[in-house]
Amino acid sequence: MSATTLDALDAKITAAAALVGEQLRAHKDDACVTSSFQAEDVVVLHLVRATAPNIPVLFLDTGYHFQATYEYRDRISVEWHLNLHNIVPAQTVAQQESEFGILNQTAPDRCCGLRKVGPLFAALEPYNLWFTGLRRQQAKTRANLQALENFTLPTGKHLRKLSPLAAWQTRDVWQYAERYGIPLLPLYDLGYSSIGCEPCTSLPLSGDDPRSGRWGGHKIECGIHIQPAEPAGKAE
Ligand code: SF4
Repeated sequence: MSATTLDALDAKITAAAALVGEQLRAHKDDACVTSSFQAEDVVVLHLVRATAPNIPVLFLDTGYHFQATYEYRDRISVEWHLNLHNIVPAQTVAQQESEFGILNQTAPDRCCGLRKVGPLFAALEPYNLWFTGLRRQQAKTRANLQALENFTLPTGKHLRKLSPLAAWQTRDVWQYAERYGIPLLPLYDLGYSSIGCEPCTSLPLSGDDPRSGRWGGHKIECGIHIQPAEPAGKAE
């Protein structure tokens, strides 16, 4: 790795850590981080835990994740002593499939609504600051992502959504993980570039689009992050 690349990464880490520290000073007891245990989420978690080691970590346990994801979640949770909150939907997978059929095949928006969006928005109610691992480079739907945005839940509750890696490139994430010896989800070694629920995740269909293996390329977002960006002051 060249000295220039290292300098650039150092600058990004310094800026992200400063932003995290600044926001945590104001929200010491009412912040959370969501994690799917993909690389970005684990890097953000590592950054945030340097200041707030006991921060609640919200994992959307849809019941449809890869076994490898559950095993990795459990490994990191134990090794890092995470304050892990598994957020579960109202219905089990068996109950939902019995009542509605296999929605991830027939109505994935509805399935995501029941198993991801609704449960997460309910789980976010007690918090005023929400850390995410989102990056602009991940998808065209995220191209206008701001590091710090205002977010409104369906109840009208407002909170701040902080994405410290908004401007990071994929290589920054991998270099950060390598620098700090962070093991990543083993599914990346099989060629996956974006990893969600198993029925809706395949190897990328396009080398230019890391999320092209999600929902067979027919859908880009689960619905959690599609609220129009509303910048919340100066962040980067
Ligand atoms: S990603 Fe697929 S399985 Fe997971 S909640 Fe959405 S539609 Fe359902």
